[in-house]
Amino acid sequence: MPIPRRYTTEAIVLSRFDLGEADRVLTLITPTLGKLKAIAKGIRRPTSRLGGSLEPFAELTVALARGRTFDVVTQVSVGHAWLNLRDSLESTATAWYLAELADRSLEERHAAEPLYALLHRAYELLDAGMAPGRVARWYEIHLLDELGQRPEVDRCVECDRVLEANERYRWVPPLGGLLCERCPGPQHERAGLTLEALKLLKAYQRLDIEAIAALRLAPAVERETEAALRDFVRGALEREARSLAFLDEVRATT
Ligand SMILES: [Zn+2]
Repeated sequence: MPIPRRYTTEAIVLSRFDLGEADRVLTLITPTLGKLKAIAKGIRRPTSRLGGSLEPFAELTVALARGRTFDVVTQVSVGHAWLNLRDSLESTATAWYLAELADRSLEERHAAEPLYALLHRAYELLDAGMAPGRVARWYEIHLLDELGQRPEVDRCVECDRVLEANERYRWVPPLGGLLCERCPGPQHERAGLTLEALKLLKAYQRLDIEAIAALRLAPAVERETEAALRDFVRGALEREARSLAFLDEVRATT
């Protein structure tokens, strides 16, 4: 069905940049139209009717008109703004990171309902004060599911054998997960995943987020799981997220 000349959609801002003297171009994620780019004309003028509401970390209702290059934002209302999320720099930086992952994962104008719901839920959790690292890991795992790149954490990716608890294994993101010791695999891959970190990866796949929030975890295990997933996500999206540099910097100083 062709998109009508004027339409209204729920949306969350993923990224934005200023254009010309007063305009701004936004990348939006919407439930049924997927990712789209839109221009907000004159938004940086103090008199703009759009100013102030077309912000990230909020669920918006946006009215748009079809345009040649970008669709044009004609009206915005804020359904819900996750304002508490901005109270900490780490949760704000994490929110930008999650938005970038969504942006990288989506093609324009392809329905994105599950990913929209995932980002929406992650922002609610950050807003409720959940540890940003846990929200980010939970989001990464479910994003990989949506991309059809669920990490294999039970079987060997080469021989498909279920790994025994006492068996040695390697974590090989380019192959999609665990490799048993009998399978050769690539030469230079480091082993680098303890049983505790593997268990935590499984927990992120299987438990709901409330149960994950309640887990008592050693910081070293959380760091290891983060590094393992970061490798995996970098491979799945074919490069490192730009916003990670900022997130790392924020965490180093707090
Ligand atoms: Zn194997």
